[in-house]
Amino acid sequence: MLYSSTRGNYGPLPAAEAIKLGIAPDGGLFVPIERVQLSMDEIAAMVPQTYQERAVKILEPYLTGFTTEEILGFVNDAYNKASFDHPDVAPLTDLDAKLSVLELWHGPTCAFKDMALQILPHLLVKSMEKTGESSDILILVATSGDTGKAALEGFKDVSHTAIMVFYPEKGVSEVQKAQMVTQEGGNVGVYAVRGNFDDTQSSVKAIFGDAVMQQSVADLGFKFSSANSINWGRLMPQIVYYFSAYADLLARGRVQLSEAVNFVVPTGNFGNILAGFYAKQMGLPVHKLVCAANENNVLTDFITSGTYNRNRDFKRTISPSMDILISSNLERLLFELSNQDADRVQQWMADLNVKGYYTVDDATRDQVQSVFWSDYADDKATMSAIKETYQRYGYVVDTHTAVGLYVYNRYRQGTGDDRPTVVLSTASPFKFNASVANALMSEEQTAGRDEFALLQLLSDFSGLPVPSGLSGLASRPVKHNTVVDREQMPEAVLDFVKKRR
Ligand SMILES: *Cc1c(COP(=O)(O)O)cnc(C)c1O
Repeated sequence: MLYSSTRGNYGPLPAAEAIKLGIAPDGGLFVPIERVQLSMDEIAAMVPQTYQERAVKILEPYLTGFTTEEILGFVNDAYNKASFDHPDVAPLTDLDAKLSVLELWHGPTCAFKDMALQILPHLLVKSMEKTGESSDILILVATSGDTGKAALEGFKDVSHTAIMVFYPEKGVSEVQKAQMVTQEGGNVGVYAVRGNFDDTQSSVKAIFGDAVMQQSVADLGFKFSSANSINWGRLMPQIVYYFSAYADLLARGRVQLSEAVNFVVPTGNFGNILAGFYAKQMGLPVHKLVCAANENNVLTDFITSGTYNRNRDFKRTISPSMDILISSNLERLLFELSNQDADRVQQWMADLNVKGYYTVDDATRDQVQSVFWSDYADDKATMSAIKETYQRYGYVVDTHTAVGLYVYNRYRQGTGDDRPTVVLSTASPFKFNASVANALMSEEQTAGRDEFALLQLLSDFSGLPVPSGLSGLASRPVKHNTVVDREQMPEAVLDFVKKRR
């Protein structure tokens, strides 16, 4: 399998190169140039398999140039008992006859980012080896909260790598912030940025694309790479759990082989749901991919109208990991749905850059609508969904998953489609515990308590244990307390690199 850029001016090149580079030097994103196709027999064969075995089956065709033993090694190093607190890795919980929840938060940082970021460092280090790389890799991450911590956990003390994480100073929860600023490891840096996530992400992208910066870090023996979902190595492992969920539905007799299901995905950067799109292309029986947004509903508008317009107010919500107005991975979808027409993709992305919006042609819009459906939840609807889910099923969900459940109900009512549906649960309820506690408990119970006290309160209320990655957070020593302006980020990068030489 070879990879080329969505902008048409880079590649094709092998998986190891695409993963090492992260983003294509022409500004585009790497995509596989051929389709991988699985037969129904191959899907049925996954039923008795472990998550790790299913992962090898999905990753192998995308990782030409890596041996099966190497891929098995990545998978076992990533998805094991030390890192995941559930033997199924991504367990499927059935809420009723038609509705299941895919829990993607059993990893070390309690959000779905672990599914990819526990394996990416292994992929990246091996990719460096295979491409004869002599520089060390500097991972730059812009995070709305969850990616940062998951990347830090994945890359801490991994040889020949260093990692810098930038998060919007006021755009993450107390728990998320505590997780990041207490990060241990000799090769890590964590910085708060004055601005929102889009500002932070744009600045990181600008550093990646800056030739002078590239040269300056190269002089110090480093090369940039990305752990954001623009890296194919991050997207690919996410395809696995769509197949795994379907295999579990088959195993339980909830669907018959080849019967189509819906997946509902709480969406921000369009990475998670795009993995679902690739799964569908690969032959997984998927009817609709339901894109669940919060009030930053730029994707809902795009899917319903064909116009992507980021000229709108950025809203801070209680589902902060979805507070995004520029969904980078949509570029990959546009490339696939416009028959891999890099010229058109380039035009749309130029429009987005210059005017802040673009409109796709009718044929592309129809294609989008044939696969995707979308709606959004505001904070009030999100809070109600947490409460109703608990009352109805005795099941506690976080704010992002609640957005998914709310939009699922809208979908079912709006379309009458009641086929089996899987809602992807993207974070542990303990990760966004303040909102969850407020939704489930009375004001007297929660008043005056900070997020750390609420962790225990929520545990007592729900009978669920506080996940090990979140317990004791408040008492861990703070190791990172630098706050920078956007303009100071390049300087921070150079300082960080100099200190490592
Ligand atoms: C990152 C994240 C999302 C959004 O996922 P994308 O791949 O960016 O669409 C949703 N929920 C949680 C909890 C997240 O951490």
